[in-house]
Amino acid sequence: MTGEENLNPFAVAMAQFDRAACYLDLDDGLRELLKTPKRQLIVSIPVKMDDGGLRVFEGYRVQHNVARGPGKGGIRYHPDVTLDEVKALAMWMTWKCATVNLPYGGAKGGVRVNPKELSRGELERLTRRYATEIAPLIGPDRDIPAPDVYTDAQTMAWIMDTISMFKGHTELGVVTGKPVELGGSHGRQEATARGCQFVIREACRMLGLPLTGATVAVQGFGNAGSNVARFLHEDGARIIALSDSKGGIYNPHGIDPEAALEHKARTGALHGLPDTEAITNEELLELPCDILVPAALENQITRRNADRVRARLIAEAANGPTTPAADDILFERGITVIPDILANAGGVSVSYFEWVQDQYGFFWSEAEVRHHLERIMTRAFHEVRATAERHRVDLRRGAYILAIGRVAEATRVRGIFP
Ligand code: GLU
Repeated sequence: MTGEENLNPFAVAMAQFDRAACYLDLDDGLRELLKTPKRQLIVSIPVKMDDGGLRVFEGYRVQHNVARGPGKGGIRYHPDVTLDEVKALAMWMTWKCATVNLPYGGAKGGVRVNPKELSRGELERLTRRYATEIAPLIGPDRDIPAPDVYTDAQTMAWIMDTISMFKGHTELGVVTGKPVELGGSHGRQEATARGCQFVIREACRMLGLPLTGATVAVQGFGNAGSNVARFLHEDGARIIALSDSKGGIYNPHGIDPEAALEHKARTGALHGLPDTEAITNEELLELPCDILVPAALENQITRRNADRVRARLIAEAANGPTTPAADDILFERGITVIPDILANAGGVSVSYFEWVQDQYGFFWSEAEVRHHLERIMTRAFHEVRATAERHRVDLRRGAYILAIGRVAEATRVRGIFP
């Protein structure tokens, strides 16, 4: 392996596709079709700022593939968002929905903005204008956004309201991840973490690694990371390290995630939590631990640090945290990776439940949501595992082989129009 690793997320997504597609009997044209995003929209979003000035932000919505159903995927607000990143995230959504067998294609949106610098009013105006700009693409039967990095239930409520104003009636099913009071589903908020917990339990059984007493490091303390830490702590695991965008905290004897949440709510950051030592995000990834959960952004485990990772199991709550070169190093070293398109599919699975509930106007209890989520995640884990074993590959390739096969089959039976 020579030369610099290509960390462009779309290049990574392409490489992941190629590394799995070669196990399937696909002709060149179909391969090309499956790799290509179906629609890409770039919009400019003018926002009146509180100081009277005007700022213009760039936003995107990409539908990668809709062969199996409407596009589905979150909207990300982050200063580093690019079209290539959104294309990659949309492609990952296609494979994610197919891995857990939801009747959806893949899509994703993003706005290049630092939401921490905006007031609530500015964020609302940005969101409503972005929703208006992407309105031609979205709808309950065509493309259904949801929360992602730095967006939440309030963001979804604004989008739902904006689209409903244009329609002249309330359109609950246009987005998921809404507040429970407004057509949202019980269990959606913590669904990504809950799904991750379910597949971690299965992987631990597979590896003969008892979850009780297992040491865990979690990178990222947003909705996914903070809840994974809480749930694994409840399962009896020892959370030895946590981090957010400002840095990490470490205590080999264990950190109480509730105390960390309370500290972060009060001070705005994890650092300074009593009885913890400051570490960097990079150091967190290299700690000796049983389970490592990257729950932040892409390209965290790369060719540079993969040989220093000392976890037994990696569960990707984030999208795209591990590069293909790192995958090879980890596989060779016997480290099991539960890939993002499986590990974090709990979020979109409960989004699917929310969409179903909105269509029927009939809402489920939290116990029902959890039961169906566990069923979906456990089945998907074992299907991925069986596919990986059959081809003697890692779980990422197994998941891709399963997912690409499903989308390819949908495309084949539909045929190419006209
Ligand atoms: N943003 C989440 C993801 O990456 C959820 C997407 C959804 O619920 O549609 O999977």
